[in-house]
Amino acid sequence: MDDTQILTPVNAQTSLAAAPAEAMTSDVVIIGGGLAGSLTGAMLGRAGIDCIVVEPHKEHPDEFRCEKLDGDQVRRLQKTGLADEILAATTPDIEAWVARRGMIVDKRRGDQHGTFYAPLVNRVRSLIPPSVRICHAKATSLSTSEDRQTVTLANGTTISARLAVLSNGLSVALRDQVGLGRQVLSPCHSISIGFNLMPTNGGQFACPAITYYAKSPVDRAALLTMFPIGDVHRVNLFVYRNMDDVWLRDFRAAPEKMLRALMPELESMIGPYAIEPRVQIRPVDIFVSTGHVQPGLVLIGDAYATTCPAAGNGARKAITDAERLCNVYIPQWLATPGMGVGKISEFYSDPVKVACDRFSFDKAFALRSYSIDASLPWRMRRLVRFVLHVVVGLARRARSFKGERQVAPPTVPVLPEQRV
Ligand SMILES: Cc1cc2nc3c(=O)[nH]c(=O)nc-3n(C[C@H](O)[C@H](O)[C@H](O)COP(=O)(O)OP(=O)(O)OC[C@H]3O[C@@H](n4cnc5c(N)ncnc54)[C@H](O)[C@@H]3O)c2cc1C
Repeated sequence: MDDTQILTPVNAQTSLAAAPAEAMTSDVVIIGGGLAGSLTGAMLGRAGIDCIVVEPHKEHPDEFRCEKLDGDQVRRLQKTGLADEILAATTPDIEAWVARRGMIVDKRRGDQHGTFYAPLVNRVRSLIPPSVRICHAKATSLSTSEDRQTVTLANGTTISARLAVLSNGLSVALRDQVGLGRQVLSPCHSISIGFNLMPTNGGQFACPAITYYAKSPVDRAALLTMFPIGDVHRVNLFVYRNMDDVWLRDFRAAPEKMLRALMPELESMIGPYAIEPRVQIRPVDIFVSTGHVQPGLVLIGDAYATTCPAAGNGARKAITDAERLCNVYIPQWLATPGMGVGKISEFYSDPVKVACDRFSFDKAFALRSYSIDASLPWRMRRLVRFVLHVVVGLARRARSFKGERQVAPPTVPVLPEQRV
């Protein structure tokens, strides 16, 4: 595919023919059309704000990233005005069980929505209105100023805009050019392992979703979460190990044997299982950007900072960043001349964003200590947490017996587009 094509929008049936390099102008240029950038493009487009999205891939490639949205993320998504259309392509989990110390402590109504990452991003992109121009090319250079920002694409096209939104995720491209750094707070903070489970008794698992917290710090694991995506029983397992740890090699070679050794009670809870051959393993560093408060440029999503997938907050940050930027700041900034640091710093000190970032970092480090710290204070916390969860679970079950609360049967709707 020639990357000189300019499509309007990404999902349009009527893509324009290959266009020669040209100069384009806009109020806003969004560099990167992942979750954060596509949400921003869709929100700005729907608000009637002139913007261009720069994204090399017409369809987001298959990639192991966020695979479900929890209740808090859905509430944040609702503020973008796009939630219903996005959630329509996800699989609700209906009911979720929680296991601690090898026993089921709670069975609650599910609030998670499962989706593989590429369909999620593609769904958001499909909501970008035709008024938004989308350039399918890589941004190769960026220069910023108090007035106008210039982005050059691999096909030679230049874009001049009043504001550049950098949402290019983990990519290091462009950062040096505008003096952006990264402070790595925790290298290889956690490792995410993704795979599909299959029931082997010919039937269904006992529950559609379960979160199983590792029993002991020696396991060096946070938790396993199983949830439905269409008719797939998807699992994310989060461990704290180095990438050269032999345990990972062994897991890849014999995942069922290793999972049974790590979480022996799982099978008696959900039923007999087998693991589909494709096992994905991906480490994550936690970093935060430096040098980002500068005129004409704002960083969102992973481009600004990452967090730990085990704590499940990366998508929350991406959604929150896009929502605050589009609902509050960009309309205000465009209403007056200039794009100086006074305006840009308003976004980075937004109380909702700051609280979301703080929560994400704190949870990432607390979950790690909660999972692998064998010192007395953390052992006590684990015990207290377990007791509280048992009490909450018993209370919920008692209410359910009294008929005050109905729990829907664990049936999983099948959406063919969600199959892998
Ligand atoms: C294994 C794993 C599991 C995870 N699990 C969870 C989870 O359970 N819950 C959760 O909340 N979060 C999770 N996360 C985090 C979450 O997936 C990310 O925080 C989120 O997807 C970030 O979205 P983004 O839009 O910032 O970046 P991305 O989705 O990476 O988007 C970046 C985009 O920029 C484009 N791009 C790159 N370079 C250029 C360039 N030069 N020019 C133009 N475009 C460019 C790319 O093509 C891409 O489309 C997980 C992450 C990982 C790695």
